[in-house]
Amino acid sequence: MKYIYGPVPSRRLGRSLGIDPIPSKTCDYQCIYCQLGKTTNFTSERKNFYPLEEIYEEIEQSINKNKGEFDYITFVGSGEPTLCKSLGKLILKAKEISKKPICVITNGSLLYQDDVKDDLIFSDVILPTLDAGDEKLFIKINRPHPSIKYEKIIQGYIDFRKEFSGKFWIEIMVMKGINDSKEELMKIKEKIDLIKPDRIDINVPIRPPTESWVKIPDQNIIPILNDVFGEYNNINFPEQGTFSVFGSNFEKELKTLLERHPMRLEQITETFSSKTVNEQDLLDQLNTLASQNKIKKVIYNNQTFWKLSN
Ligand code: SF4
Repeated sequence: MKYIYGPVPSRRLGRSLGIDPIPSKTCDYQCIYCQLGKTTNFTSERKNFYPLEEIYEEIEQSINKNKGEFDYITFVGSGEPTLCKSLGKLILKAKEISKKPICVITNGSLLYQDDVKDDLIFSDVILPTLDAGDEKLFIKINRPHPSIKYEKIIQGYIDFRKEFSGKFWIEIMVMKGINDSKEELMKIKEKIDLIKPDRIDINVPIRPPTESWVKIPDQNIIPILNDVFGEYNNINFPEQGTFSVFGSNFEKELKTLLERHPMRLEQITETFSSKTVNEQDLLDQLNTLASQNKIKKVIYNNQTFWKLSN
């Protein structure tokens, strides 16, 4: 599969079947916390990157193969999914084949555009990002394409929220010394009050970020978050549950997952050891791929992660 991955475990979405219509690191942001590495195709222009028929075919195959053993179909992946010009057609295709809810995880930068709103209106859940309460911090954290303006994004959220009948869940990435002061969090809350999402998820950078100086906030942030956001959905923890793979080619399947999702060693072991190789063989294969510079080991927050080598 080139465009579909998982199902993968997700803290918010249970088991999520991922659809990725965007080439690796094609994005209009260059977030300091991005777990996928540096943005290599920095663009805000929407287009079709791949033949739609190929994606349709994989959507159909994967939905049939997984026989409903997933909770959500999620458009997400290795770039910003709303940059796909035919996202709406893909959403409708998935809805035609499956009754599972459709979710789009987006940075929200293009939500102010009518064509993007039209594409997203048929989904069931939208998870846009809001990491900063003003333009200055937005530029520091998300490092957007010059065509993307903060106030336009906020207005886009406010307007879309009113039109959209599905669930609108905002995600905030909170990072130590960057946006974790009460003052900065209050500024974000002011925007949240205007947008009125159904829910807020507070994330911390649990996987290795693009910039090594990005850190998880101290535990004493929790009362401040409680104070500012009141009823929010808690700080996220490493996800539980198993990943799924389609085929038996270890290297191909591992790269498909790592392209979208750096994995802890125990997640790789759990996903692959019973399928094609035992644990020692698996470690040997990981080390071989690392010596060929195809993947790399990263220690972050006292945990070992494997990522694709950029
Ligand atoms: S975190 Fe998302 S929005 Fe930010 S650079 Fe990475 S892919 Fe783009």
